[in-house]
Amino acid sequence: MAIPTSTSGAAVHAAGIPSPSAPSDPVGVLALQGDVREHLAILNGLGVDARPVRTAGELAVCAALVIPGGESTTMARLIEAFDLEAPLRRAIAGGLACLTTCAGTILLARVIEDGLPGQLAFGVLDLTVRRNAYGGQQASFEAALDVPAVGSEPVRVAFIRAPTIESVGPTVEVLACHDRRPVAVRQGRHLALTFHPEITGDPRLHALFLRGLEARPGAGAPTG
Ligand code: GLN
Repeated sequence: MAIPTSTSGAAVHAAGIPSPSAPSDPVGVLALQGDVREHLAILNGLGVDARPVRTAGELAVCAALVIPGGESTTMARLIEAFDLEAPLRRAIAGGLACLTTCAGTILLARVIEDGLPGQLAFGVLDLTVRRNAYGGQQASFEAALDVPAVGSEPVRVAFIRAPTIESVGPTVEVLACHDRRPVAVRQGRHLALTFHPEITGDPRLHALFLRGLEARPGAGAPTG
């Protein structure tokens, strides 16, 4: 399905990025915590059949999944309470591609520093992340990031009690840095961000994720 001509589509074109063709299967947004509505709105604006996911059945029909930010320790508890840990592990091992933001990136990382003892880490992304590395809520900030993969116009995003990415594995591609630290990375078809693009509403990172689904079919499985 082609992206309809819309304000968000125009922004993608203005950045010189070819329109992604939206996947015909639904794209889920894990709807346990965080900016679910904002992610759904951006995906809908890009022509995607985007749906909230709270059950294994809802997950099973999705071609890809957005895991929003929030609080990784709380999200981990909710994933357990909603019996989603095993279905998520199975789906990701089977090639489900994930777009993760902030707490979502923490959840999928291989190593979490400053996590709670025994904090759930799916170990999908070959990253070491440090929770709350910039400080608490008052240390949250907005920034205009250079992300060459989405065009020359900087992307305005919000860092909210964000983690830092302390190190990345060899299969991880760094797409953007802030203060010389990676903040947007790609591993196979997974796209992981330490910030929130949905708050400022720029659709280009979601569009990049969708393009990756088409361009790199089946490459989203974990490497380790
Ligand atoms: N500090 C949060 C955590 O540890 C993440 C914050 C966010 O997702 N905005 O999970």
